[in-house]
Amino acid sequence: DSSSGSSGFFSKRTFPGRVPAGIGRKSLRIVVTGGAGFVGSHLVDKLISRGDEVIVIDNFFTGRKENLVHLFGNPRFELIRHDVVEPILLEVDQIYHLACPASPVHYKYNPTNVMGTLNMLGLAKRVGARFLLTSTSEVYGDPLEHPQKETYWGNVNPIGERSCYDEGKRTAETLTMDYHRGADVEVRIARIFNTYGPRMCLDDGRVVSNFVAQVIRKQPMTVYGDGKQTRSFQYVSDLVDGLVALMEGEHVGPFNLGNPGEFTMLELAEVVKETIDSSATIEFKPNTADDPHKRKPDISKAKELLNWEPRISLREGLPLMVNDFRSRILNGDEGKGL
Ligand code: NAD
Ligand code: UDP
Ligand code: UDP
Repeated sequence: DSSSGSSGFFSKRTFPGRVPAGIGRKSLRIVVTGGAGFVGSHLVDKLISRGDEVIVIDNFFTGRKENLVHLFGNPRFELIRHDVVEPILLEVDQIYHLACPASPVHYKYNPTNVMGTLNMLGLAKRVGARFLLTSTSEVYGDPLEHPQKETYWGNVNPIGERSCYDEGKRTAETLTMDYHRGADVEVRIARIFNTYGPRMCLDDGRVVSNFVAQVIRKQPMTVYGDGKQTRSFQYVSDLVDGLVALMEGEHVGPFNLGNPGEFTMLELAEVVKETIDSSATIEFKPNTADDPHKRKPDISKAKELLNWEPRISLREGLPLMVNDFRSRILNGDEGKGL
């Protein structure tokens, strides 16, 4: 292949087309990094069910084989234990890059956002795949604009405790746009706002999983600070629909993907109480440093250009995760990687 001008191991090459997925559309081969995680495993389910081939790359840092076990034995599904910080050779059409230690207790351990994103962009460049980055609302930091539009550049502390995540994702966005402009890689950027649902890690300290698990265990819900800080919570199937619409659409982004319904942590605690156990209580704990005071997506861009908006409200979505949490807590599965 002469198009990349390189003849090395990582030089650009093409690979044979695959069998049709059904009438009118060719089956795609799709990589999902972080596919054993919470969001990734739901995305994989959707891609497999529409007839595509899916290769999951995951090092099980926070992901779990249980999230994918129902797909083992499916000839269109493949699971590779691999750390995306190391290079990898695959021949694919699309890359959904989700791999990332994605919660405060995990994300300081790993250079995934920079090295992992670079490797996946290198892979996309070599095989001509379309690359989608799952960035985050954290790129807006403690926002001075409310609600946040994609045009807002953010207010991030570069040396704080959360910085490796916020700045890691900001760097990942920069790398993505550099490969787009410099190497003609087709890219898509999603900025995901707080998302919840079945298969969420039980032990990673995020507020929805904490509150739901605490109430099931008959423990008080731990509200950090005064509980008046706000977040906007999106149900996972809405996010997955948005990610696929973005990947399949014409626009690079970035796009905010989130549910604009805004709740204080005290209001969230109230909804969890109403949903699971009316005798639930709360206790106040000191808040963490640099905690954003409020967050709410402006999703008009995604509505207009992707024809996407979330459909499931917090009151509808919360009950949908309770059975999954109950059975995992009952089985003593604390959500740790295998
Ligand atoms: P998760 O922790 O459940 O999933 C992340 C997955 O990546 C895990 O399976 C983990 O094992 C894997 N992983 C981590 N480092 C890796 C590495 N170096 N190599 C290979 N695999 C690795 O988290 P999630 O909530 O599913 O998040 C998925 C993506 O969405 C992340 O990129 C995250 O930053 C982004 N996001 C999520 C939310 C949310 O509220 N869930 C919000 C904003 C952004
Ligand atoms: N890379 C990879 N798989 C591939 C192609 C590239 O993991 O199929 C990695 C490669 O090892 C490098 C990174 O992606 O570390 C960036 O690749 P690129 O070709 O853009 O950069 P270069 O190797 O020219 O510095
Ligand atoms: N939070 C809380 N109790 C908990 C966990 C988190 O009150 O047990 C608060 C936290 O201080 C923050 C909000 O909930 O203000 C959302 O935290 P999370 O870690 O879920 O998401 P992020 O801060 O990344 O938006």
